[in-house]
Formats: sequence, structure tokens, C-alpha cells
Amino acid sequence: MEAAVANQTYPLWEQHCCLPLQPTASIAGLRRYRRPAGSYLSVNVGYAAQGKAESTAIAENFRSQAGGDIELVTEFGDVDAVRDAGGLALAFDLEDSAPLDGDLSNVAHFYELGVRSLLPTYNRANAAGCGCLDTDDTGLTRYGRDLVREMNSVGMMVDGSHCSTRTGLDLSASTERPMIYSHSNLRRLWDHPRNITDDQARACADSGGVIGINGVGIFLGVNAPEDEEQRLSAMADHIEAAVDLVEVDHVGIGSDYSFDAEDCFAEIASHADSFSAAYTAWGPLQWVPPEDVLTLDRILRDRGFDEASIEAVYGGNLARVAAAVWATRG
Ligand SMILES: [Zn+2]
Repeated sequence: MEAAVANQTYPLWEQHCCLPLQPTASIAGLRRYRRPAGSYLSVNVGYAAQGKAESTAIAENFRSQAGGDIELVTEFGDVDAVRDAGGLALAFDLEDSAPLDGDLSNVAHFYELGVRSLLPTYNRANAAGCGCLDTDDTGLTRYGRDLVREMNSVGMMVDGSHCSTRTGLDLSASTERPMIYSHSNLRRLWDHPRNITDDQARACADSGGVIGINGVGIFLGVNAPEDEEQRLSAMADHIEAAVDLVEVDHVGIGSDYSFDAEDCFAEIASHADSFSAAYTAWGPLQWVPPEDVLTLDRILRDRGFDEASIEAVYGGNLARVAAAVWATRG
């Protein structure tokens, strides 16, 4: 702890970032998150547009490139081993249950490939429940509840980001393990359908879980390309507001950084059914880049956070949830 304070650095736990969803994409850009104290990164391997075969191929491609300073982790104990050596600990996440192809046994298939969290519904209703862009919100379906049970059993974190308000609350009520909002900001600061209500945040915290604050301009309310500094400051605002709302033990970081903006814009254009004007009304999406995420500890210190609180938000809290949820080798 003394050394960490002296270096003003803690290990980072980044709960969600995005490489192109292509079976040929390079993971080299992940090194932008390197940090002397080490980093954990969860990289997306599919959303509503993918099925099992495609997400499997994407995950296999990322796996094939890991090694050296980017190490795939299997269980929680691996994370610190990689980070203590200053490396990047890598695992995956899914945004939507579509890649399960309707078969809950595929939760275990993706767990084996390194997927450690899944959100059931990406923006629009599916077999598992409603999304945050739906006008009718009937919450989690029976299949969605079975999915939560299977994820609890396998050791995959239940994620409420992109889900509707009621689906998110149903997830909190259904899960027997702490849940997360991997990358969700607060509606109390910026009234956007992708942002979560106070009730959702409280229910997540009550499960023992964590809300990962993201760095996406349209979800922060600061999307002008030139407003980079204000965007980072707004990310710190959401962290502060979340700490006020649910206490410091339940706040983390899931920046949602997209390493290839053009690829992301093409994805939104070609899968318009999954999105709405809530994504396009402010012009091309902007993100807080990794280099700025790596300065958040200093900004939180400037705002009066003590060292234990900075360490918790920077990664300690999400690490606690992972330790409680991920399976351990028998
Ligand atoms: Zn997302």
C-alpha cells in the first residue's frame, strides 16, 4: 500500500471495452491500458448481432493472440499474478444473450472461452427480457430468469447494462450472486435511456455489486469532439455521484472505449434495429480514451477521494465481485 501511494498508482479493473467484432481483429491496441501496477481488461466478443459461431470465432481469435504481456485469465487468482508482473490480464464479455443461440448450456461454452460477464438484453427486447430502448418494459422473461440461474451456477457475472429499468431490477432480484452494471452512467446526472435510475443503482449495490462508469460522450452528456477534458471531468462527476448514491464500495470503471471508432460507427449503421436516435442525435460517438482513464486516480485524488476509495473505484470493487462470482478450479 505504501509503495502504491508513493507511485500514485493502483491496478486498474476495466470492465468493458471494444475491439472490432471481426475474427481477424488485432488485440495490440489493448496495450494502451498498460500501467505499472497492472490492468485487467474485459473485451467484448459479441452483442445482439452475433450468434454462437461468430462470437466463438471472435473469442478464439483474441485468445490466439494472447501471451507475453497480455495474458488470458481463467480464475480470479490469475488476475493478480498477471497484474503483479505489470501485465494486462484479459477476459471477455457478451452484450446480449443472442450468442447463446437459445441454449443455456452455451453459458458454460463461453465461460470456457474466457467470457466472465454477460448482459441478457442489448437495447431491444429479446427472449431474455426488455432493453433500454424499448417503450414497453415487461422486464425479465422466464427464459431470462433461467439464464440468471445458469450464470450463477457457472460463475459468470450477471450484467444489467443496456437492459431496461425493469429488467435490471429483475436481475437484481433474481441473482444469488452480486450483479454488475458493467458500463452504465447515472440518469440523475444525464437523462439518457442507456443511463440507470437511482433504484437500479441501489438494487445493484444491495446485491453486493458494482456500477462501472463509462466514458461515452452521449451517455455522459458531453459528446463534442473537442470537449475531451470536459468528457473526462464528466466521467469523474458520474463516479462522484454514484459514490454519493450507493457508497464507494459499489462503484467502478467500465469505460466502453472503442478502439476502432469507424468500425463502431459502421456497426451502428448496419444494425440500425439495435439502436435509435438516442445513439445518433449528438453526432459521431466520442469516448474517454485509455490514456485519460489512466489519469482518473489523480483526478479523484484532486476531488478529495482518500487512497482506499481511489483503489476501490479503480478496481478493488470489481475485483471483489469477480472473486465472489467466478468459478474456482476444483
Ligand atoms: Zn455497451
